[in-house]
Amino acid sequence: MTRFAFNIHARDGKARTGTIQMQRGEIRTPAFMPVGTAATVKAMKPETVRSTGADIILGNTYHLMLRPGAERVARLGGLHKFMNWNRPILTDSGGYQVMSLSELRKITEEGVAFASHIDGSRHMLTPERSMEIQRLLGSDIVMCFDECPRADQGKDVIAKSMEMSMRWAKRSRAGFDSGEEHAARSALFGIQQGALHQDLRQASADALRDIGFDGYAIGGLAVGEGQEAMFATLDFAPGMLPDDKPRYLMGVGKPDDLVGAVERGVDMFDCVLPSRSGRNGQAFTWNGPLNIRNAKHAEDTSPLDDRCTCPVCGTYSRAYLHHLQKSGEILGAMLMTEHNISFYQQLMSGMRGAIAEGRFAAFASDFRRDYFAGK
Ligand SMILES: [Zn+2]
Repeated sequence: MTRFAFNIHARDGKARTGTIQMQRGEIRTPAFMPVGTAATVKAMKPETVRSTGADIILGNTYHLMLRPGAERVARLGGLHKFMNWNRPILTDSGGYQVMSLSELRKITEEGVAFASHIDGSRHMLTPERSMEIQRLLGSDIVMCFDECPRADQGKDVIAKSMEMSMRWAKRSRAGFDSGEEHAARSALFGIQQGALHQDLRQASADALRDIGFDGYAIGGLAVGEGQEAMFATLDFAPGMLPDDKPRYLMGVGKPDDLVGAVERGVDMFDCVLPSRSGRNGQAFTWNGPLNIRNAKHAEDTSPLDDRCTCPVCGTYSRAYLHHLQKSGEILGAMLMTEHNISFYQQLMSGMRGAIAEGRFAAFASDFRRDYFAGK
């Protein structure tokens, strides 16, 4: 069986559409990966996640290592069996979240020592331990352990951090390869760093290319720099990475971020936005985001989005969803999340179709006209 193969079926400008073949299934690109932080895409059953059209989900190493613990997940047969998702899972390395969530962090060349945000217990994450945890979870796409510095730091700090991340990428590659049985059926992605600096992005891309990976992520964006700066970086960053491998923009984003990034040559995305916003009452639609808590929806019998093909829009009114959200009902979070994840998948499917037919520019322009019409 194919371990990992990426085939580009069509190109339109810098945009590409294709498929990634893996043992647990095919991933259609451009792909959006719903985030299943703690072995669950919050408020959704795995079968519902699949029914929205998701080919792959993301799991978080940092959360899972702390609770229930990677060794426990392994004893229970791995993450797929544990959570009842039999398609590909990408796990992050824990690097980003250990920086953003943990306490008492100490970063050295060896790795990151930290205290759990749950119970204060002490842990150490290194490239080798991150690879071991992702192996214990049974991840299909493993991410290199890296440091993601804040983009507002000085260039010298960003450069030193990037250089350490490239040394960690080499150690990640060795750690991943040492798990021979797991390495034979999974893939390893490197992560480009360098914040908004073109020369650092190039140096990072060169270092990663020398090591060699199945795919390449663009890290260190969507950390507060704003869409304009992110797009300016995406004007050059994806083209520095190998053309024949998937490019994954980590932690992005809003629907208009996805369209702009695909336009610039990105193939994969993940973000908590559709699920987290859904729980908070924000729905994404072809006509822009809306807040279902707003009083104007209280007696509105129309669906969230009349172009959306999801079962929520086929069944429930804005008025009912408004009521559920105002009442704090669990079903409100479930239905809003299902719609949002489904909307994201319809957006990806729309982009894939448009690229295949050579009409991506028109698709993007129509999308922006409708999405921003109310602004
Ligand atoms: Zn819908």
